[in-house]
Amino acid sequence: MRVAIYACVSSERQEKEHTIGSQLDALRTYAAKNGMEIDEEFTDEGYSGARLDRPALDRMRDLAERRGFEVLLTYCTDRLARKFVLQALILDELERFGVKTIFLEGGAADDPLSKLMHQITGAVAEFERAKITERYRRGKLYRARCGEIVSPDVPFGYVKIPRRDGVPTHAEIQETEAVIVRRIFDTYVKEDMTVRQIAKQLTLNRIPTPTNAGQWSWYAIDRILHEEAYIGTYYYNRKQCIPIEGAYGKKRQRFKCTLGPKEEWIPISVPPIVDLATFHAAAGRARENEAFSPRNLQEGGYLLRKLVRCGRCGCSCSALTSKQTYGGKVHCSHYYSCLRTTSGFLKQERCSQRRIRADVLDELVWEEVSTRLLDPALVLDAYQDHNTRRSVSSEQDGATDQDDRLKEQIKLSNKELSRLLDAYQCGALELAELQKRRQLVNSKIEMLNREQELLRKIAAEKKKETDIKASLGEFAALVSSNLKRISFENKQKLLRIVLDKVVVNDWRVDVYYNIPLPKPTPPPAEKVSTKFDLRSTCRFRRCDRVMPVVRKKSI
Ligand SMILES: [Zn+2]
Repeated sequence: MRVAIYACVSSERQEKEHTIGSQLDALRTYAAKNGMEIDEEFTDEGYSGARLDRPALDRMRDLAERRGFEVLLTYCTDRLARKFVLQALILDELERFGVKTIFLEGGAADDPLSKLMHQITGAVAEFERAKITERYRRGKLYRARCGEIVSPDVPFGYVKIPRRDGVPTHAEIQETEAVIVRRIFDTYVKEDMTVRQIAKQLTLNRIPTPTNAGQWSWYAIDRILHEEAYIGTYYYNRKQCIPIEGAYGKKRQRFKCTLGPKEEWIPISVPPIVDLATFHAAAGRARENEAFSPRNLQEGGYLLRKLVRCGRCGCSCSALTSKQTYGGKVHCSHYYSCLRTTSGFLKQERCSQRRIRADVLDELVWEEVSTRLLDPALVLDAYQDHNTRRSVSSEQDGATDQDDRLKEQIKLSNKELSRLLDAYQCGALELAELQKRRQLVNSKIEMLNREQELLRKIAAEKKKETDIKASLGEFAALVSSNLKRISFENKQKLLRIVLDKVVVNDWRVDVYYNIPLPKPTPPPAEKVSTKFDLRSTCRFRRCDRVMPVVRKKSI
């Protein structure tokens, strides 16, 4: 058996590690002990192990190719090459030439081979983990699309029923909690209580919370009021979670979760707890509260806050107070100002609409509105006129559209059922699978039917509502007697009911009403209610009066 030895040392490591001499000694001793006779000795002194173009190494490889020896003795793996890839390359080559390589020392702690093996094992494990996670995630998405509840928790008011006897995981109403949910909706919509008041009331009544905490928070109430599961659709895959980088010192990885795009949400049918009308009424109140929160009410009132719009760019106008000092006194002026006039916008993109004096505009619009409201005949006529046209209004068209859509969906689902049966008959589907899928489609049809029923109920309620409002004469009489003594808050409330928006373009003001008013006999050239001039020289001077545009919304 011909034996060759190879030793290598780079100049900068001479002192720290074994010198060529000590390496050769160790190799020779090993050969003698094991009865090997050394035919060739290759030594590279002062060459870095990071490169392959070492003269002795080249010679050794050449000899190996010529089958000049069968065994190569080296001190340790990194004598051959420091990089794993190069080591692997040489070892693979030697193996091909029938050379057995013996290392005197196994992988040391800083041995690149063992280090790399360690890294590779880690990487493979990580890859496997990622693969499993991804497969699991996709599997969950698929099951959710089939209508199965896959999230660990269900909203308050429901209980998760695990998969059993071929029936997929689904949610059922937990009546004790559902009662609380209905109570929250009812209190919010009918009793006009705020979320904070409801939270306080529930806590005082010792009603158990969703998290079993002692106190109800306004946040919990708000979440319940916005949860769409209560009207029959629970959404999965709503949130996108991104790991937070650099959150050190935490045992668990932290995530930042945001709402994803709605088209990626997966709707899952669940039994509804509240009716659609109540849910939408709650949503409407929440929207209104947000816009007209008293928390944002500023000094000076601003009667038309949130109602003024810029006629030039269409942006809403914010209320602002400007303070100026002259003669040692601070003078406050209140304005409505277009949002696009702030320095937040590029100079060339800013709106050129001037600020509008708040007191002037408030007075002007209030005068206009109160004049109209003081005329009960006008309001009543308008309402009746509107009522007759309402039967063919687009609101009804919208309802019919939705009804048609539901009918179409029910038809499609029934078709799906018959297709499933066909698939079973021709043997493409197992019985268990058929049952599972049929149940899913059936629950979908059931939900659609429920929705259709609700839609019809709402339509009936709306009709009833319009009948009640036919007695608007009483309302008008009431308004005229109270209008003069009305407080600021009530004035503001009334304007928010009656007005849709007030558009200001330069010096011109257009008032858009929510209540329908009759069209004047000669139809106006422009669809605006009134024209005013806001210039101080001719304040309140009315230009040609035009009757207001008729809005679809009614009071
Ligand atoms: Zn503007």
